[in-house]
Amino acid sequence: MSETPGAIPTLEDLETQLGDLSGKRVLVRTDFNVPLDDDGEIVDDFRIRAALPTIEWLTERGAVAVTASHLGRPKGAPDPKYSMDAVRARLDELSPGVELLENLRFDPGETANDPAFVAELVDGIDAYVNDAFGASHRAHASIVGPPQFVPSAMGRLLQKEVEVLLGLRNKPKHPFVAVLGGAKISDKLGVVEALLDVVDSLVIGGAMCFTFFAAQGKPIGDSLFEPDQVDTCKRLLGEAGAKGKTIHLPDDITGTTADGEYATFGTRLPDGAKGFDIGPGSAAAFTDVIMDARMVFWNGPMGMFEDERFASGTRTVAQAMADTKAFTVVGGGDSAAALAQFKLDDEVDHVSNGDLPGLEALRHGMKGS
Ligand code: ADP
Ligand code: MG
Repeated sequence: MSETPGAIPTLEDLETQLGDLSGKRVLVRTDFNVPLDDDGEIVDDFRIRAALPTIEWLTERGAVAVTASHLGRPKGAPDPKYSMDAVRARLDELSPGVELLENLRFDPGETANDPAFVAELVDGIDAYVNDAFGASHRAHASIVGPPQFVPSAMGRLLQKEVEVLLGLRNKPKHPFVAVLGGAKISDKLGVVEALLDVVDSLVIGGAMCFTFFAAQGKPIGDSLFEPDQVDTCKRLLGEAGAKGKTIHLPDDITGTTADGEYATFGTRLPDGAKGFDIGPGSAAAFTDVIMDARMVFWNGPMGMFEDERFASGTRTVAQAMADTKAFTVVGGGDSAAALAQFKLDDEVDHVSNGDLPGLEALRHGMKGS
């Protein structure tokens, strides 16, 4: 989360750069990924209405807004199920005369960030506005392409969301919960330490929990852990207590026995056993913590989710991230991959893999400018 809204051009900056906007064709990347029912009717037009402040700002200045969005998950080819027709009709009621391109994901060039598709998108376009926060973590053609070729800015909605995100970082909502897992234990202990001051509780799964179990003197069998970090974990457990913070560790584990058989354990693993996932009881307990939070940061899978036998802890936590009313932020390459694998990446508020490619593209703008 390193976004600085000040460094990203706003609509006002765009006007300063272009002067008179009247007659200018402005490509607006919106998030019109609205829920549709079985008959293709829009269930909730919130995302369309949310784009109106940007669209109206442009049309009030005489600009022609050409909107573009993805809808659902077509497989890089036209699919009538995901046609923009219903969205176009609703948009025309809300803001007559605004153009809307066909579903961006009907073209395989969108997700592939194909330069030929970018060229098609900016053809005849004078400026670009990104108002699709939910898509800005993806290096897709419509997100990162146009800023390289035409003057670009963030729309009102994107601006608001970036500000909210920064506000939450500086002034988190409580309960603020950090859910940590994954394999890179020593990397993340630094994060744990830093988070301990801002969060109300830490939820720990993945291979990371075994270093904590070892710190508690529990047998962990042959599970992955980092012996040289055991003392750090002991200290963190003590510090958390002193600061009134809760560290939630799993109370059951799934993995393999010494014979390589799939098994469920408590928190004391027999000799030769390996823990590869949090157990169902822990997954349910972690879900409760996430559901009760107002802000959740998640980094690191709860288990070796690449193996379906050990994916359920990560899937359950991902589902809780999707279901909770809390503001949800997911960081880390493998965590983002897990979310995408479970098709829940559109259900969290923010997926951060370092900087957002969409914001990065706006910040850098056209080559040589
Ligand atoms: P991220 O990329 O989200 O920051 P990491 O790279 O730290 O996450 O960790 C992801 C990896 O951790 C995954 O490949 C997963 O298989 C592995 N992992 C999680 N839990 C365990 C475990 N109990 N034992 C072995 N590997 C694990
Ligand atoms: Mg990783």
